[in-house]
Amino acid sequence: MTTPMISLSRVSKVHPGGVAALSAVSLEVARGELAAIVGPSGSGKSTLLTIIGTLDRPSSGTVRIDGHDVPSLSDDGLSALRAAVIGFVFQHFHLAAGVSALDNVADGLLYSGLRLPERRRRAAAALERVGLGHRLGHRPHELSGGERQRVAIARAVAGDPPLLLADEPTGALDSASGAGVMRLLHDLNASGTTVVVITHDREIAASLPRRVGMRDGRIVSDSAAGPDPDPEADPGPEAGAGAGPGTEDPGGHRRRAGSGAAR
Ligand code: ADP
Ligand code: MG
Repeated sequence: MTTPMISLSRVSKVHPGGVAALSAVSLEVARGELAAIVGPSGSGKSTLLTIIGTLDRPSSGTVRIDGHDVPSLSDDGLSALRAAVIGFVFQHFHLAAGVSALDNVADGLLYSGLRLPERRRRAAAALERVGLGHRLGHRPHELSGGERQRVAIARAVAGDPPLLLADEPTGALDSASGAGVMRLLHDLNASGTTVVVITHDREIAASLPRRVGMRDGRIVSDSAAGPDPDPEADPGPEAGAGAGPGTEDPGGHRRRAGSGAAR
């Protein structure tokens, strides 16, 4: 049996100042899944994704990512896990100003141990993959919002991580650019990447195979656990009776394109 990509057990997080952002959250995400996290502002979505991405530590509970027990890792072990396993995309892109798209992406591979020419070669391939092969030399201010987010996605996936986390990646985009970004996440998932995306957009949430609903720091609904009791997360008419447009992968054992083996 393969280990889940994400396994959280009774994770709680109290932020400095005493805000209980997460209360005993347990969540498992299998390899190959494409899941949405939905819920009102302040419900703990970003805190949850940040802990999954090992950018923050829980106050209590266990976190296993790709089979690794995160709290027991050294700083070097954590860096290695992030470099090899996790790609992160943010709402506001977080690109370096004045730096070309190519080098924004290549800099994401700094901890890979690869030399600059190879980092740039991989960066160009990643930009090609997101449809920006013709924009390598453009700097962020010379790109549209949708293009900037595609650069950020290229940076996140240049190292071919098996897990991609995105915190409201379409939140700052018009709907056409947002749709392009979502198509890209679907394509990456179809080639084997496990994807977890936070979204406020009901239509986007409805188009994803799994929806995890949060409220007040707890998971209050999970479409993978049966009928969704949360009316806020209702799939809406265009989703039909099923779980989305043919992307369900119940076994979660899809192989990664190019890497040969399920990890
Ligand atoms: P969401 O992403 O669902 O909007 P967050 O995870 O950002 O929610 O926040 C959950 C709660 O934790 C909120 O009450 C927020 O104000 C609080 N919070 C988030 N980050 C911090 C922080 N770094 N320090 C203190 N409180 C925080
Ligand atoms: Mg948030």
